[in-house]
Amino acid sequence: MLKFYTKKSFNGGVHPKDFKELTKLLPFEQIPIPKQIIIPVSQHAGKPAKPLVRKGSVVKTGELIAEVDGFISSNIHSSVTGKVTKISSQVNVNGILVDSIFIDTLETEEHIKMPALNFEKITPDEIKQRIKEAGIVGLGGAAFPTHVKLSPPDDKKIDYLILNACECEPYITRDYRLLIERTQDVIYGLKLVMKAINVKKAIIGIEDNKEEAIAKLKTALLNFPEISIVILKTKYPQGAEKMLIKAITGKEVPIGKLPFDVGCIIQNVGTVVSVYDAIVKGEPQIKAYLTVTGKGIKQPKNLIARIGTPLIDIINYCGGFTDDVKKVIVGGPMMGFAQYDLLTPITKATSGIIVLTKEEMKYFKETNCLKCGKCVEVCPLNLIPTRLVRLIQNEKYQEAKELNVSICMECGTCTYNCPANIPLVQWIRLGKQKMSKILN
Ligand code: SF4
Ligand code: SF4
Repeated sequence: MLKFYTKKSFNGGVHPKDFKELTKLLPFEQIPIPKQIIIPVSQHAGKPAKPLVRKGSVVKTGELIAEVDGFISSNIHSSVTGKVTKISSQVNVNGILVDSIFIDTLETEEHIKMPALNFEKITPDEIKQRIKEAGIVGLGGAAFPTHVKLSPPDDKKIDYLILNACECEPYITRDYRLLIERTQDVIYGLKLVMKAINVKKAIIGIEDNKEEAIAKLKTALLNFPEISIVILKTKYPQGAEKMLIKAITGKEVPIGKLPFDVGCIIQNVGTVVSVYDAIVKGEPQIKAYLTVTGKGIKQPKNLIARIGTPLIDIINYCGGFTDDVKKVIVGGPMMGFAQYDLLTPITKATSGIIVLTKEEMKYFKETNCLKCGKCVEVCPLNLIPTRLVRLIQNEKYQEAKELNVSICMECGTCTYNCPANIPLVQWIRLGKQKMSKILN
């Protein structure tokens, strides 16, 4: 029996304007293959993949070019047919230098695919093995290797598989368009994940501002009584794993624990589409679905681009910048990273490129803390951001650790709500980096 619950949520959070109207009605377009692709060997949480090619190697589209190295790692495949010109450091979208494989594309494209597997007969182990071979990582942000996430310890019983269809970051409409354009593939991808982890029921959590996607899902799910929908209030950061679990199941993930400790596994919409493509079509993860938006881009679009495409090629495909551009962000405006080099390539988990104009950006003068408590009110994890920041500013890292700074998910909600314009999340991020060096 298909069930619909309405308007669940979590404590805290904020309501930024979503700006999704810029792209929500635009179907995906395929961007042409650029002349050069730059593929970082680390596009995932965990250890970088080990390169299998060298300067001069000729590679085909879909060929394995860097392999899993260690337990938490992920395969990387060439997204084009071309010649490796060098392997060297390149700044990634998070501003970190990583080893990257530079490939000049050839005119004629040759594909290597894995054999398609039978959807009905495939076993759980075969599903996980194929996900590992295909180099699939979670597309919700952290890019955690999916084959590892779907292999919880034997003593953890999974009760809930939750599909995270919230897409709560403003501007981004990638998952929304996937839900509309590839509805059946989302459902079949979810079914494959259900089989992989041996759960009988799944829940799709979606915010109430995604009416067309909800309508499509309702119709498509009539034949799938094992999958239900929970409609959630539109609120940031509704799509954060802990917030989603709290809203849907009422369970709190204890500090220092993971979703599987409360019987939950969360998957992103894009991830289950990749699972479907890897198993039913034999395609490794070589392309990214992403939204290019903001008033600073001439033609906002939803795009399908090859992994490793430089930002500048994508921006040019979208007509280039308007005259008053101020900032380029990769990811959402709340958690994404501002860019300073447009040769930086997109990776598997790139969900969007946001180009902001002067008019869209707000410049605030930072003032002293007003002790108003508004940052505490909205923190979804019940942290005390103002206190954490004071401790970090005074280099009292041990005390910050005792106040659980390490569980901060850097969602930026506190900063967004601070009337004194204190860059709280930036201080916390810096503090966590310093702590990891000093206290470990
Ligand atoms: S960035 Fe951290 S401290 Fe600030 S609201 Fe989010 S979780 Fe809380
Ligand atoms: S919201 Fe800003 S001004 Fe208010 S207590 Fe927190 S840090 Fe201070």
